[in-house]
Amino acid sequence: MKIIAAKKILKANDQIAENNRRRLSQNGVFTVNMLGSPGAGKTTLLEALLPLLKSRLSAAVIEGDIATSNDAERIEAIGIPSVQLNTDGACHLDANIVGLALDSLDLGNYGMIIVENVGNLICTAGFDLGEHIRVVVLSATEGADKVEKYPAMFQNAHALVINKTDLYPHIDFDPGRVMSDAKRIAPEVRIFQASARSGDGIAVLGEWLLDKRERWLQGIEK
Ligand code: MG
Ligand code: ZN
Repeated sequence: MKIIAAKKILKANDQIAENNRRRLSQNGVFTVNMLGSPGAGKTTLLEALLPLLKSRLSAAVIEGDIATSNDAERIEAIGIPSVQLNTDGACHLDANIVGLALDSLDLGNYGMIIVENVGNLICTAGFDLGEHIRVVVLSATEGADKVEKYPAMFQNAHALVINKTDLYPHIDFDPGRVMSDAKRIAPEVRIFQASARSGDGIAVLGEWLLDKRERWLQGIEK
């Protein structure tokens, strides 16, 4: 009997992720790994964000879901090319499956790719996909204790988007707690409060992403 430990699997994943990152970087494609729970509002956020980005660069989206192509269809409906990955039960994307999506895109055509990961606040954090930055979306409805309870998800995040601010008046949610927990776990993290539904905070997030990409292109940030 052979036992292959998770550590080895992750090491193999890291090598493929580095390869993805090299391909993306060579083509000047700034790539975002967007993570968060099911229902955090990731796809709705993309629907609000992409029309703003569209006038400044050409973007594509890779959608990760266990089943269905619903999310990719929503992205295509706003005129953004997308690739739907179905993981057939797997609860996260890995670098290998994202590499297959990259094969199907003409990378030279895009300035930015956003990968919407499978909705999951746990193991998605452990898999480098070859992205340049990570953006975690947390819905206000998930509760203010999530950063503290799922630290791995937040400690490697470049940005945290607290989504569904339009629901603040209706729920018992303390954004201050989320922000202080996030700053403790990831001092460099940039925190946004937004509502994909009302449009609140979306432009600020879009500008930040474009600025991040610019700094990356100029070699100011890795
Ligand atoms: Mg989605
Ligand atoms: Zn998983």
